[in-house]
Amino acid sequence: MASYDEQENLLFLICQKALFGIEQSFMEIYPTKLAKVEPDRLQIEWSNGQLREYRYPEILDNCPCAGCREKRSKPKPKLALPVLQPGENEPLRLLAVHPVGNYAYSFTFNRGCDRGIYNLETLLNLGKEIPSETPS
Ligand SMILES: [Zn+2]
Repeated sequence: MASYDEQENLLFLICQKALFGIEQSFMEIYPTKLAKVEPDRLQIEWSNGQLREYRYPEILDNCPCAGCREKRSKPKPKLALPVLQPGENEPLRLLAVHPVGNYAYSFTFNRGCDRGIYNLETLLNLGKEIPSETPS
């Protein structure tokens, strides 16, 4: 089992590789930089200069796979007690980012669904824009 630091380094390498694939993209706007912001955010810098920040739960809650879309479209049963899945009390951690073709990413968290393919358009509509740093 790799240490937490080793996992962090691995994730960084995977992000760089992911960037390399995406740079060849035909999309007009593509990510130029991915960075993890502790403890639970991912920042993506886009080629149009936009910087967006994504909270891990937001990414997971918007999983675009068919299974999760169907779950979200159904009303939640009101009387059912919430059932904690194993590990659900642990903070959400991003374990890996995978490029999918040259137009999308998938994310692996320490729990939750990892089947979602987030295309660049989806990612541009998620998260919130961070105003670019102004000199103080
Ligand atoms: Zn899913």
